[in-house]
Amino acid sequence: MTTSHFPRHGMDKSAVLEALRDAATGDADWRGGQTFSLVYFADDEILDLLKEAYALFFSTNALSPFAFPSLRRFEEEVVQMATDLLGGGPEAVGTMTSGGTESILMAVKAARDRARALHPEITRPQMILPITVHPAFEKAAHYFDVEPVHIPVRDDFRADPEAARAALTDRTILMVGSAPAYPHGVIDPIEELAGIASEREVPFHVDACLGGYLLPFLRRLGRPIPPFDLSVPGVTSLSADLHKYGFAARPASTILYRSEDYRKHQFFAYTEWPGGLYGSPSMVGSRPGGAIAAAWAVLNYLGEEGYLGIARAILEATDALRAGIEKTPGLHLLGDPDASILAFTSDELDIYAIGDAMSERGWKLDAQQLPPALHLMVTPAHRPVVDRFVSDLREITTKARRGEIQPSSGTSVMYGMAGGMPDKGPLREMILQMMAELLPPRRAA
Ligand SMILES: *Cc1c(COP(=O)(O)O)cnc(C)c1O
Repeated sequence: MTTSHFPRHGMDKSAVLEALRDAATGDADWRGGQTFSLVYFADDEILDLLKEAYALFFSTNALSPFAFPSLRRFEEEVVQMATDLLGGGPEAVGTMTSGGTESILMAVKAARDRARALHPEITRPQMILPITVHPAFEKAAHYFDVEPVHIPVRDDFRADPEAARAALTDRTILMVGSAPAYPHGVIDPIEELAGIASEREVPFHVDACLGGYLLPFLRRLGRPIPPFDLSVPGVTSLSADLHKYGFAARPASTILYRSEDYRKHQFFAYTEWPGGLYGSPSMVGSRPGGAIAAAWAVLNYLGEEGYLGIARAILEATDALRAGIEKTPGLHLLGDPDASILAFTSDELDIYAIGDAMSERGWKLDAQQLPPALHLMVTPAHRPVVDRFVSDLREITTKARRGEIQPSSGTSVMYGMAGGMPDKGPLREMILQMMAELLPPRRAA
């Protein structure tokens, strides 16, 4: 680790840029289709459009709706396009946020504050979370002091509605389902869950961070996608990430509500500040206008036809990967994934060792736990490399059966490590310690 002092002299622009390019040489190769998370890349034309749109509004700030009427209009139109796509009625509203996490934080905060207003008798609020929901909900529980009540998933990895019903109490302020959930790519039974919530007048949030800008197009291509959006009775809010399958630039997501009755509890205002009257819609203060403009740009550039084309490419790649995994003796998928997110494992082989061996060939699969598995989030970038992936996977699995690959180190991935450790307390401390060391470390004296 090098130590940096505050630079006394400036550097040449070309030297700065060269240093940046050099630094990136060890980074994940997202363009070549060898990574399966973090970056959603469709093609260079879209990327160029995003960069140009972002650059045009690079210096703008959407903190104030007054200084940049353009951003206000873009945000309004992005949210309108989103509610149109995702089953919102005439009353549906929303805002843009910096990502799925912020959208989820806002949904939980809005539900908590709505309960405070309508049910002041609830002093210790709870929310019901299937164990497969994204950790952003645990973060929201932690930040906003809402007790998470975890419910199991069924054998098909979908949330269990009966468990949800049994977990409801007089303190429940929110129930949640995913469309789809990240770990196994399956959609929770949203209609059943939301029905149970609405019987008790409990708000229901759908986490469609992954599926929001993909599932509607998969359905139009003939895939059996069950109802999951704001058109489902009882669904009161929905998160959908533009910077994932919307193929927008980070940071961009949408949080949508059935009506202003729900959204109004998201907002924050303060009137006593000497700096003036302050209002802010979400967690962050300053909001990069470039990301809002780029999201508007890509939605209008692609339109339904463009997204259908992308969805077709994603399906082709997913179906081929799926078939390749299922036909590899010793491997099987977890559950029956609804979209383009797959997890696979093995009953007889060390799946983490297979992941390590794939990694040596450049394939960066994410490792999961409970049960141990490898995870793929499929994008159009994977279509050209499917055959190579499947043949590498088959070769490595064959070798694994003959005992010809290294056992897993167990230290290559955070999630993976968890598999071998029965006591999670020390593990949590270790993750916190790791963050303290990585983000960023203390400057050496
Ligand atoms: C990615 C993701 C989130 C969180 O989104 P960020 O943009 O990373 O903050 C939430 N839910 C699901 C299902 C996700 O896949």
